[in-house]
Amino acid sequence: MKAELKDNLDRVEENINNTLLKMGRKREDVTLLAVTKTVDSEKINAMLELGVKNIGENKAQELTEKFPEISGDAIWHFIGHLQTNKVKYIIDKVKLIHSLDRLSLAKEINKKAEAENIVKEVLLEVNIAEEESKFGLKKEETIPFIEQILDFKNIKIKGLMTIAPFAENPEEVRYVFRDLKKLGEEIERKNYPNLEMKYYSMGMTNDYTIALEEGSNIVRIGTGLFGKRIYK
Ligand SMILES: *Cc1c(COP(=O)(O)O)cnc(C)c1O
Repeated sequence: MKAELKDNLDRVEENINNTLLKMGRKREDVTLLAVTKTVDSEKINAMLELGVKNIGENKAQELTEKFPEISGDAIWHFIGHLQTNKVKYIIDKVKLIHSLDRLSLAKEINKKAEAENIVKEVLLEVNIAEEESKFGLKKEETIPFIEQILDFKNIKIKGLMTIAPFAENPEEVRYVFRDLKKLGEEIERKNYPNLEMKYYSMGMTNDYTIALEEGSNIVRIGTGLFGKRIYK
């Protein structure tokens, strides 16, 4: 198992490195986030032993179940649609929530973070391609949303996240990444207090090299690292 994981990781790292080299960017500026949904804890720990540090889950229950089984120095991210009643289970476990997309969720994160006496770092999920099936703010909703939650003391906005539609040819979704980056730059120019456009979480197995070319600094990779997902 470990040899196969290492091959996968080597291949992903090579693609990341080649792309960044071409763009004149540094490897340490990009976080490889291993997406571990449906992957068992043994396999996740093996990947961590190979040097991956950041892992992402998309369901609160699955995260909570695996949490005690995963080696302690893992850095957890929450990348999926988050129900408000699940915030309490994950807030003290994850470094970054990638999927803030509505006011009710912002209120709940802020409340639970206040109770924990922490400031929670979040990314705003933007549905650039406006796919009906996906969550996320519309592009034009993003700035008004920011202005609604700017004074929430226990939330800190650290950037943007998007999921591109699946495309046989990932060139077709380059615009998604480009638009997210442009939106981030527009937000940056507003010079809001207590907000930083530090992270652009974009790119998955099928499209991460394109996303990196467009300025991604967190790539979320599942299949490319662990193989095809098996849903039980
Ligand atoms: C599953 C998932 C990924 C990883 O998808 P792969 O195509 O397997 O790399 C990335 N981001 C989110 C939000 C996901 O749910």
